[in-house]
Amino acid sequence: MKHLLLAFTVTLFTITSFAQKSSINSTKNIDILIKNINVVDVEHNTIHEHQTIAIVKDNIIAVGNAAIQQKYKATNIINGTGKYIMPSLWDMHVHFGGDTLVAENKMLLPLYIAMGVSHVRDCAGDISLDVLNWKDSINKQQLFGPTIFTSGPKLEGPKSIWPGDLEIANEAELKIALDSLQKLKVDFVKITDNTLDPELFLKSIIAARKRGWKVTGHAPATMTIETFSKNGLSAIEHIGYLSRSASDKEEEITKLKADGKISSKEATALYLNSFDSTIAMEKFKQLALNGTAVVPTINGSYVTTYLDINDHKQDDYLKYLGPALKRTYNWRVQRAANDDAAGIQFRHKNFEASASLLPLLYKAGITILAGTDAGYLNSFNYPGKGMHDELAIMVKYGLSPQQALASSIINGPAFFNLSAQFGSVAKGKKAELLLLNGNPLLAIQNTEKIAGIIRQGKYYDKKDLDLILSNLATVISGLK
Ligand SMILES: [Zn+2]
Repeated sequence: MKHLLLAFTVTLFTITSFAQKSSINSTKNIDILIKNINVVDVEHNTIHEHQTIAIVKDNIIAVGNAAIQQKYKATNIINGTGKYIMPSLWDMHVHFGGDTLVAENKMLLPLYIAMGVSHVRDCAGDISLDVLNWKDSINKQQLFGPTIFTSGPKLEGPKSIWPGDLEIANEAELKIALDSLQKLKVDFVKITDNTLDPELFLKSIIAARKRGWKVTGHAPATMTIETFSKNGLSAIEHIGYLSRSASDKEEEITKLKADGKISSKEATALYLNSFDSTIAMEKFKQLALNGTAVVPTINGSYVTTYLDINDHKQDDYLKYLGPALKRTYNWRVQRAANDDAAGIQFRHKNFEASASLLPLLYKAGITILAGTDAGYLNSFNYPGKGMHDELAIMVKYGLSPQQALASSIINGPAFFNLSAQFGSVAKGKKAELLLLNGNPLLAIQNTEKIAGIIRQGKYYDKKDLDLILSNLATVISGLK
């Protein structure tokens, strides 16, 4: 027995020393090594030059100086000289929808990736089951597209104008609706307000939060913004609703609207006439304390507001969108075309007032989530490119490039409690990365200078991405 134990110990010793010896001389096999690149540190608003990044599958296993290169033997070596690298973009408000447009919606998936958008939050439509299937296939790498977070069908009242909604008229129906969302395993709950009873709206927020979801939505015109916030609305979609907070007459005007004494347009005019940003600032501080975020989706409103100046009909990017999807753009174009000079002026004034609130949201400490509202119906608010437009317009209206970028790549994952895996180029984070030919902290437009992406463990250089785009354009040019 004693001999046996001794023999075992000797064997163990031999194995250990062999292993130690071999690790000194050998290198670790990895999938991707990026050499000499500028890492964009969005959180600290700075650049780390001459960095080496080691990637295994879709994980960053090391970031350091050139000296760490000798530790690794990579299948794919990328020369990052002169390039910048940051996490890929998160678009926190998109739509997949149009029940006859499933195939054209599916073609948006590679488009998002080619434009550097790796994660999208789908804020409801009428093709939820398809979206949930895509989400699953993308996660399994059977389908090429961005990681999807989806609300599934949103909650609304009876006879909602939007197809695909879960229509509820009372608490019993609310419970059934939430049960069905739980079965679908949706990522958050979205609520809108065209026919939903405002009291039931509040109850929906509370009930959905109780089940562990975050809840986002529009804000019914019949109650103050603070009412939704204090009842637990996780995020308000669209900055336009926040104009209400800039009025000291908010309670009065919401009451008039609740009593049916004024139209929506009259309410908007009353808010504009009493617009005061110092009042907004006070109320925003309270929203920040309540933990309510805002998804401004400012680019979509900008595009429709200024259709009289930029008609977008000749935009080159249209070649990447299916013809039937493009036809859904018409209703907003038509609606804008019906406005007379006074209507156009009102539109401009209303937009500029709400857009001016953007930096105040930030100053008040509200979490801003970058989202486009891109998809069907929302004219010229482009899937993929729209995210770059949104960031640029955030900067135009008063955020710094760093603040705009953070609202996408840091606040996006944080909304889904994924900050441990995303938000920076660092050891232990996911390698969902965007390579650029310019520093986006200096000029936000540099996010469009895409040099390559790393997605689900694979590197796609500019040529690969251009091929995805040109194939897409070819397929689409053959559709009617
Ligand atoms: Zn939307």
